[in-house]
Amino acid sequence: MEEIKGSCIILYPSPGVGHLVSLVELGKLITRHHPNSFSKIIILITTAPHLDSGATAPYISSVSSTTPSIIFHHLPTTPLPPNSKSSVDALHYEVQSFNNANVLQALQTISSTQYKIKAFIMDFFCNAASEVSSVLNIPTYYFIVSAASSLSAFLYLPTMHQKITTSFKDLNAYVQYPGIPPIFSSDVPDPVLDRNSVEYEYCMEAAIKMAKSDGIIVNTFYGLEPRAISAISDGLCIPDAPTPPIYCIGPLLCENQMDSEDNESLVWLNSQPSKSVIFLCFGSLGVFVEEQLKEIAVGLENSGQRFLWVVRSPPPKDDDYENKSTLAPHEFDLEGFLERTKGRGLVVKSWAPQVAVLSHDSVGGFVTHCGWNSIMEAVCAGIPMIGWPLYAEQRMNRVFLVEELKIGLGLDKSDGGSFVRGAEIEKRVRELMESDNGERMRHRVLELRDAAKVAMTDEDGSSRVALTKLITVCGKCNLEQ
Ligand code: UDP
Repeated sequence: MEEIKGSCIILYPSPGVGHLVSLVELGKLITRHHPNSFSKIIILITTAPHLDSGATAPYISSVSSTTPSIIFHHLPTTPLPPNSKSSVDALHYEVQSFNNANVLQALQTISSTQYKIKAFIMDFFCNAASEVSSVLNIPTYYFIVSAASSLSAFLYLPTMHQKITTSFKDLNAYVQYPGIPPIFSSDVPDPVLDRNSVEYEYCMEAAIKMAKSDGIIVNTFYGLEPRAISAISDGLCIPDAPTPPIYCIGPLLCENQMDSEDNESLVWLNSQPSKSVIFLCFGSLGVFVEEQLKEIAVGLENSGQRFLWVVRSPPPKDDDYENKSTLAPHEFDLEGFLERTKGRGLVVKSWAPQVAVLSHDSVGGFVTHCGWNSIMEAVCAGIPMIGWPLYAEQRMNRVFLVEELKIGLGLDKSDGGSFVRGAEIEKRVRELMESDNGERMRHRVLELRDAAKVAMTDEDGSSRVALTKLITVCGKCNLEQ
């Protein structure tokens, strides 16, 4: 039997760039501020090509080579059942549950031959693995890549389930969760819209297990969401049982997205005036049908503003694009738009180094799909936003952005549907970039940027203190495994 070499913590991210990168960045943060607390941080990697649209392999290999105390342990690929009809939301949970045997084997091997495991920290989509960690008697923590405000609603789901008897999709009314603004029922996250769906069941299970975990780690900071964080910590979201400790350790940003200074977007931004460019980017999965792309083009052209627009290929016509994460390459014709806006706009295909773009001095506004990482990255760069939610919990994030934080504008959809007209895009872009209201939002987001810096860098900053508490608790764990 090999000799045990020390202690470790295990991080278990869900695949998909927005989920994986934040948890790896948590590992880096721990090694930076608490370098001697554990011998290693071991990250279990699941292979799921259908969920991993952003290339994460170069990022993983760069972290491996620069941070030797972080080890990536690749789990064997588990094939999905043939002809799976599951939605992307359901797949996030299902992939992880098929992986439990692999997780069990990995944890047993690590703890019996290499390192004593002090804590198991998993993405909430990996909920199924809590069965494995509890069998092995390993303290289990959930990692939330979204807002504390979303966490409030998530933890409150079992209570809300008792309070209302209709699916959110049919309710047609505002619902009230602790510590957050009222949310219109159709704006709750996609997986919980239908109480008879399998996704809803997965979320209920995860909310119930999470409430019994050893702690919940959230990529946010106290100064950004004081109402929601206090509501959770005060036990309002789990009214009938104790609430686990909440550790708000963010903002976690990906500091190295393999971007280089000669990246096309960054080079172009170098030639633009300060704060003059509106940046449009819709996450790792955001796509629009061709007609919508044309309306965006009309709005940008008529706004007269400079722009940097990241465009993913639109889905083939007649396809259910909302349920697709990978799309057939399909060129679209922007009808002379590129030619007419040459010099004041740049369209890049698929991907731009978002963190570097947002912190470039030429960028003054951001049209975002309201993914939580994107919102945090804009806050850290001090950039006000226009929120255009597309999937997952993004409609709720838009409410926090616009109504609670007041650092973003919403977009009115035409005819109550999901289509946004060019004139509306033009109006909002102008408002953000040119009006007093835009200026007020810029001022507020700059204050939040400074607060984020203090939370993360001052010894007594709220996120540093929360991280130290978490590491101290994990370090003290001495249970028999
Ligand atoms: N991202 C990027 N360039 C792109 C699209 C996305 O760098 O062109 C990064 C972005 O900076 C963020 C992540 O991908 O860190 C997306 O995470 P988010 O939570 O905003 O949205 P998701 O993709 O999970 O919906």
